[in-house]
Amino acid sequence: MNVADSRRLASALEQMGYEPTLKPEQADVIVLNTCVVRQSAENKAIGRLSSLRPLKDKNPDLVINLMGCLIGVRGNTQIQSRFPWVDVVSPPSDPEPLLTLLNERAGKADEQASVAETNAVLDGDLVLPKHEQGKLVSAYIPIVLGCSHACAYCIIPSRRGREHSRPYQEILQEARSLARQGVKEITLLGQIVDRYGLDLPEKPTLAALLRDLSEIKGLKRIRFLTSHPSWMTDDLLDAVAELSKVCPHIEVPIQAGADEVLRTMRRGYTAQAYRDLIGRIRTRIPGVSIATDIIVGFPGETDEQFQETYQLLNDLRMDVAHLARYSPREGTYSARKLADDVPEEEKMRRFRLLEELQEEISAEINARYRDTTVAVLFEEQSRGRWRGRTPTNKLVFVESDRDLLGQERDVHITWTGPWSMIGTLA
Ligand code: SAM
Repeated sequence: MNVADSRRLASALEQMGYEPTLKPEQADVIVLNTCVVRQSAENKAIGRLSSLRPLKDKNPDLVINLMGCLIGVRGNTQIQSRFPWVDVVSPPSDPEPLLTLLNERAGKADEQASVAETNAVLDGDLVLPKHEQGKLVSAYIPIVLGCSHACAYCIIPSRRGREHSRPYQEILQEARSLARQGVKEITLLGQIVDRYGLDLPEKPTLAALLRDLSEIKGLKRIRFLTSHPSWMTDDLLDAVAELSKVCPHIEVPIQAGADEVLRTMRRGYTAQAYRDLIGRIRTRIPGVSIATDIIVGFPGETDEQFQETYQLLNDLRMDVAHLARYSPREGTYSARKLADDVPEEEKMRRFRLLEELQEEISAEINARYRDTTVAVLFEEQSRGRWRGRTPTNKLVFVESDRDLLGQERDVHITWTGPWSMIGTLA
């Protein structure tokens, strides 16, 4: 979400005549787009913000914009008194406060009109920032903003606001515009992406959107994330199976394997329902890869309950598991009402056990790719090797002197590990 929001803002700044620089000390404007999903992310944002102070001391004309979840949709009035070198704060996905300030400073007579002009460019017709033009292969498109689910541990609903879907036509327009600018793959984003459209008058579905997006010339691949187990319909799974451009890769978090923990987390499903769903996904989408998210050490999680999570992961054998240690977040139900009673060392022990198990599973699944040929879409060249992904989202490296950027090529896989693979052009 933040990558997409930052790109939008970079585009708007370029429309106003700004250019990017890699050196903060040369910048006239610095935007820090923040994530606070866990305390570690918030600490990182605060650390980076503190490191900007000397730049502001040296150059008082520098504009520092603090954006994203550290601010939240309701705004954060205290933050500027805590960090007086911040000039302007912006809620997530909202470039307007910064653009208004810059217009004011530039002494634009009709500042409102010029903000509106810039926003018109933002809605739908996203012009890629110059340094990405002709180079960006894969782009994110947020389609559901905010979240109304209120999982007990999650700060996102309070920082990103209530769930609302972007208009259908606006998404199609943005995807077309990205495709015209050379983008080959789009990833549709939402906290519960499968709930797309439920709040819109015509109630369009994600499945319908995938069908229409598939018609766009130039786009080779379409992905979406994150799914919620309670909202994945058979219609959606069938669309993924049917539509050749939609990648057979599903990101659907379980979070915990014990029903009692899932209930306290307010996730709204049982472990058995999740197992059934994974069975349904695998039956309906042959060759699918599945990623999950798991939180260890949620308040009250006993060792037996953790063992249920371990067993579930061992049984279901997902391609990827994003693991996190529970982090109490300000204002959430679990932070207010439940003691963070699993000691840090125990959280770490559980984390490591799952990490080891997942490494084994991922290595085993990826080994099945050895000596096969898969389609890889190449995204960039780094350290002399081309980096791309399979439709199932496996990372593949290929050594080649050719320019493979944005090309989808058949690759013969020669080596596999748990996190990536190596191959040669077939
Ligand atoms: N909206 C999706 C969902 O909840 O299913 C996932 C998006 S969330 C930004 C990414 C992941 O961060 C979650 O799936 C969860 O595993 C993790 N997460 C969220 N809040 C957390 C917390 N308080 N402590 C640890 N991990 C957390």
